[in-house]
Amino acid sequence: MKPPRKLHIKSYGCQMNVYDAQRMADTLAADGFVETASADDADLVILNTCHIREKASEKVYSELGRLRLAKTEAFRAGRDMRIAVAGCVAQAEGEEIIRRAPVVDVVVGPQSYHHLPELLARAKREGRAIETEFPAEDKFASLPQPKPDTIRTRGVSAYITVQEGCDKFCTFCVVPYTRGAEVSRPVAKIVDDAKRLADNGVRELTLIGQNVNAYHGDGPDGRGWTLGKLLLQLAEIPGIARLRYSTSHPRDVESSLIEAHRDLPALMPLVHLPAQSGSDRILAAMNRRHTVRDYLSVIDRFRKARHNIAFSSDFIVGFPGEREEDFSATLALVSQIGYASAYSFKYSPRPGTPAAEMQETVSAIDMDERLERLQALIDSQQSAFNKAAIGTTVDVLFERAGRNEGQMVGRTAYLQPAHVIAPTDIVGRILPVKVASLERYSLLGELAAASPPGPAASFQISIGA
Ligand code: SF4
Repeated sequence: MKPPRKLHIKSYGCQMNVYDAQRMADTLAADGFVETASADDADLVILNTCHIREKASEKVYSELGRLRLAKTEAFRAGRDMRIAVAGCVAQAEGEEIIRRAPVVDVVVGPQSYHHLPELLARAKREGRAIETEFPAEDKFASLPQPKPDTIRTRGVSAYITVQEGCDKFCTFCVVPYTRGAEVSRPVAKIVDDAKRLADNGVRELTLIGQNVNAYHGDGPDGRGWTLGKLLLQLAEIPGIARLRYSTSHPRDVESSLIEAHRDLPALMPLVHLPAQSGSDRILAAMNRRHTVRDYLSVIDRFRKARHNIAFSSDFIVGFPGEREEDFSATLALVSQIGYASAYSFKYSPRPGTPAAEMQETVSAIDMDERLERLQALIDSQQSAFNKAAIGTTVDVLFERAGRNEGQMVGRTAYLQPAHVIAPTDIVGRILPVKVASLERYSLLGELAAASPPGPAASFQISIGA
């Protein structure tokens, strides 16, 4: 029997990439690969790239420089190391990657990674293989299912892709070009995946999609189902105790989703709802298709449905044309909502997007200064949100052992890490924890198994739609 080949995947960016990396590993496991933590001793290294953040492609080329040395070392040791670039940078740059980094054997876009075994075989025959088309067949139908042991190793919390791609075309974003048009998976396939995960110890499912609440997959009744309806169905699966979804677009929040938050205790009260800006002028330039008023109205509907709901968000500062008054409007929006957490970034142009052609750019100094002010405000809100948990009892889903002896780590309904001293067999259980203190963003406390769970922290707080 041939010894297994070693696979190392380095994944950048969003939850979708984490999920895609797992599905690449599942695909290659069927071809005799086992995962290894080190790139240096791998037979195949995959860089699963992200194009959202600044200088994404430069980071990939710099990593490929390091891998060139590792490949040379492997060659000297008589090993045949292969290097693949996957993900959104692969989609965006295609052949350019091999031109700039001839060390790369395979370039594969996010819609084609189920073809990895064939692409590796082609690269061996022809020296290289590139696939960045959007194939007509259903990628998900071609992907092998993870083995029960693999699911257990990955932990009690799992992602399921329910939707991919985006038709919104925000002017700053590459997703519609790298991931393609919006496609939703059928309900039955998602339910099958969820059951398999639940049967193998998964307790928490996060449904992911670039624009997850645009979900409109075919239901068993032959009709298109909304995300809210899908969540109701998944909540019925024995063993699934928590449901989440990400990332939502404010324009696609349907009443069935609001109702799901009202009716489903398993649906966690934390909604990631990117606002991007608090200025209508900038929102229009971004082609966000919503106003500040629309956004606030959506927040209000969620709050009316579930009193303890909290929000996270994404913001871009220094979008072309952003003036001080636009930025002040963003600060005002953040102040008005009070987020549990939020991500904020300086605008940086993505080649090929309409915003990259906009002339009225914001100076680096102004961008830095605005980002600092926004992050200070967000940090103060996050800190207040976390402090509000001190003295309360919160439900925690335990995931793993912590770094310190005897310590176990889990997450609250609001995704706050929580640390307690406890036996290891609490992994996979949801237990009440009395919160005593904070350490940075983590809650420290002790198990309160004898007492009933107290009210969840109710301070108002809030990943790309
Ligand atoms: S930011 Fe979100 S909604 Fe806008 S184009 Fe990108 S993925 Fe779509």
